[in-house]
Amino acid sequence: MTRRNYRGSLVDVSFDKDLCRHAAECVRGMPEVFDTQRRPWIDPLVAGTSERADHLREVVGRCPSGALRIEEHDPSAAGGAR
Ligand code: SF4
Repeated sequence: MTRRNYRGSLVDVSFDKDLCRHAAECVRGMPEVFDTQRRPWIDPLVAGTSERADHLREVVGRCPSGALRIEEHDPSAAGGAR
């Protein structure tokens, strides 16, 4: 298992290349985040607004293999703790 984490400002995305079936749902759904010509090819920092983070969650949810996963940031680290 080779899951790697890609850090974003609102959410992270992790990717396991052994699971990827190259269906390209990710690249079609959000090419500004998933760009196979770029290194690193996943850049969740691009999804820096809550609308874009929601879209990213939706696109990651379409990945048919489970290779992509949203890694939510710890909400208690966002200043919500008493
Ligand atoms: S949508 Fe999932 S299976 Fe398809 S290319 Fe992207 S990571 Fe791989």
